[in-house]
Amino acid sequence: MHESLLNDELKAFQDAFKKWVDKEIVPHHAAWEKEGMVPRALWESAGANGFLCITQPEAFGGLGLDFRYSTVVIEGLARAGAHGPGFPLHSDIVAPYIEHYGSDEVKQKFLPPMAAGTCIGAIAMTEPGTGSDLQGVKTKAVLDGDEWVINGAKTFITNGLLSDVVIVVARTEDDKSGWESQSLILVERDAPGFSRGRHLEKMGLHAQDTAELNFEDCRVPKGNLLGERGQGFVYLMNELARERLIIAAGCVAGAQAALEMTVEYTQDRQAFGRPISKFQTTRHTLAEMATEIAVGEAFVDRCIERLVAGDSLTVEASMAKYWTSEMLGRVTDAGVQLFGGYGYMNEYPISRAYTDARVQRIYGGTSEIMKEIIARALV
Ligand SMILES: Cc1cc2nc3c(=O)[nH]c(=O)nc-3n(C[C@H](O)[C@H](O)[C@H](O)COP(=O)(O)OP(=O)(O)OC[C@H]3O[C@@H](n4cnc5c(N)ncnc54)[C@H](O)[C@@H]3O)c2cc1C
Repeated sequence: MHESLLNDELKAFQDAFKKWVDKEIVPHHAAWEKEGMVPRALWESAGANGFLCITQPEAFGGLGLDFRYSTVVIEGLARAGAHGPGFPLHSDIVAPYIEHYGSDEVKQKFLPPMAAGTCIGAIAMTEPGTGSDLQGVKTKAVLDGDEWVINGAKTFITNGLLSDVVIVVARTEDDKSGWESQSLILVERDAPGFSRGRHLEKMGLHAQDTAELNFEDCRVPKGNLLGERGQGFVYLMNELARERLIIAAGCVAGAQAALEMTVEYTQDRQAFGRPISKFQTTRHTLAEMATEIAVGEAFVDRCIERLVAGDSLTVEASMAKYWTSEMLGRVTDAGVQLFGGYGYMNEYPISRAYTDARVQRIYGGTSEIMKEIIARALV
């Protein structure tokens, strides 16, 4: 977010979050990348410091603040290259589904511990056989008395191993097809028939646990249904715009961090008797990176302001996600090039920024799907 969007309270919050990230995350992130996940204690520390579920009402353990505060957390993590903690997905994707579509009992049960960091959330849409085509979900849930019985498999699930509660997208309406056939059902860690599959090895985001989930005659209470039966797809479409804006805000902040480390490196690195920042080609590359970031930031800021004002942003959020994730790819690629061989070494943050960036064009809806959504509003 540009400074002009920050008032004194937001600046103080930004400052407090940065100090916490510098102390609690930065010194440990490399070790967590080797372990493939972050410790639960980090979640509890984030909760105790008021950095989780910020936009949730105070009655449910949140701070009742607006999305700009969430953006501060998203940007703070991205700027530090701290992709391990899946806080944005937990606080700004999973918690809002429960807030918007859960019964009072469900909200009271899950939201306060989620704000405290003692209950970690995930959302399971993608399956081995379908990702972009969400209407093709095969996982099935059948009502048996007072319980849902769920059968199916999910993959690529963020917070997959750490999660204590998972929103599962399942087919519940046999007599209907496509968007009218799905529902959202909460599955808790210890639900009978729920198990975790492989802890997936990825190209980047090494500290973020991404896993497979299996449901074999998994039984959960009837009341774990979010909202109405058969409305799951509609709810997903309503909420995905925020998810895409979260990714876009992270991409802009990540690109800014990549630019800053590249500027510093090009001033230090000598070639042909001078810093490489003195070569005109280097200077023009840096200028292009800075310009792309400024343009992306302006558009994302406008989207954030509109989201806070309550506007519906399906198309604009898709534009922001598509453009900033592609921009992050260009900026980190240019950064690696200017670092030369060192840019290819994992010990250099620009190398990790490059590999971490690649997935931004894929998850939360691929660039191709974003363009489909944008095009649908045109023709
Ligand atoms: C690290 C990571 C974390 C993730 N976290 C989660 C999570 O927490 N929860 C979750 O549910 N999912 C998660 N995902 C899954 C992610 O959202 C999907 O991978 C993504 O939506 C793409 O689906 P897919 O992998 O099935 O690709 P596919 O849908 O098979 O797409 C393959 C290719 O075909 C293209 N394509 C598909 N349809 C069209 C079309 N209509 N027009 C043009 N091109 C098309 C795609 O753009 C892509 O290039 C995660 C993925 C990763 C890698």
